[in-house]
Amino acid sequence: MVIKQLIKRTSGWLYLNSAVGRSQLQGAGVILMLHRVLASDHTANLPHRNELCVGPKAFEHLLIWLRRHFDCVPLMDILQPGTLRSDRPKVALTFDDGWRDNAVNAFALLQKHQVPASIFLSTDFIGSRQRFWWESLGETLWESHGEQARRHLIECLYKRGHPVPVLMDDLDENRRSVTLLHYLQSLKSLDARELSRLTDECPQESMPQALDWQQVRALESSGLVRFGPHGASHAILTSLDDQRLDEELSRSRDALLNGCNRPLPVYCYPNGDHDARVRRQVAAHDFPFALGTGTGIYRGNSDPLALPRFGVSQRTARNPELLSWRIFRGGQP
Ligand SMILES: [Zn+2]
Repeated sequence: MVIKQLIKRTSGWLYLNSAVGRSQLQGAGVILMLHRVLASDHTANLPHRNELCVGPKAFEHLLIWLRRHFDCVPLMDILQPGTLRSDRPKVALTFDDGWRDNAVNAFALLQKHQVPASIFLSTDFIGSRQRFWWESLGETLWESHGEQARRHLIECLYKRGHPVPVLMDDLDENRRSVTLLHYLQSLKSLDARELSRLTDECPQESMPQALDWQQVRALESSGLVRFGPHGASHAILTSLDDQRLDEELSRSRDALLNGCNRPLPVYCYPNGDHDARVRRQVAAHDFPFALGTGTGIYRGNSDPLALPRFGVSQRTARNPELLSWRIFRGGQP
C-alpha cells in the first residue's frame, strides 16, 4: 500500500515536471471538485469524512502546491478562454453544495493565496435550517451530538428497517469510521422522503449547515468567488419526472438570479448524475455549461454539458502528487 502510494506520488511529480506532462497540459484546463473545509485536520482525516472534507492545513498545502504548478484561474477562464495563452496549465476550484464552512474556513485561505473559486449551491438550503441528511445522520451516529441522540437514532433506524451494523460499536476509531462510511453509502438509495424523516430524528444543531445569502453576497463582492446552482433540493435529477425536473432547475436558477449579482452560466449536477434528457433540460434553462463528476482534462472539445472534474479528498489535499498522478491518468487519450 505504502509502496503503491510512493510510486503514484513519484510518477505524479515526474509527470508535472516532464516535457511530456507539460505538453499534454498545454492549453488544457483542470477542474477540481471540493465540498467542505473543516476547522480541523484530525476531524477531516477520518474515513467517513475524508472523501468530502478537507482540513485547513491540507487545504492550504494544496493551494500552495497548485500555485506552484498551475495558473489558478476562475472557472470561466477555462470554459471560455481568452486569446492570452500561458505556458502553464490552468486549474479552477469548484465547491459543491454550499456549506457554511466554505465562508468560515475556506475563504480566508483562498484570499491569502489569491486563488479564485466557484461555489455551487443547493439553493433550498441557503439561508434555511434545512439539513443535509448525510451530515445529520453521519454526525449523530458518530456521537457528535451526544450518546442519547445517537441511541435514539439507532433505535429509529432499526424500527424503520435500516439496522446499524455492530461494527459501529468497535473500539477502533478508524474501523468505526469505515463502517459508518459504508453504512451512509448504503442509505443513498433510500427515497428522499424517508431520508428527510430520518433527518428529523437527529437533533437540531445550533448553527445552520449551509451558507446564507448574506454570506453569498459578501463572498461574491470579494471578486474571488462566483456562484452557480447545484439543484434546489439536491434531488438526483435523473430520477425526476419532466415536471419536477423543470421545477428543480427553474427554482435553483431563479434563486441564484435573485441572490447573486453575477451567477455563473454553469449548472452542477447533484451527485454528478445526468443523462441526455437532463442535459437537454439544463441547456433549455439557459445553462450552456454543466459540471459532472467524470474525471478528465477539459480541452474545449468535449461536451460542455458534461464537464469533467477531479475530486479532492483530505488524502489528496495532503499529498497533491497523488492528484497529478490522477490528472496524468485522466489525461490519457
Ligand atoms: Zn452535492
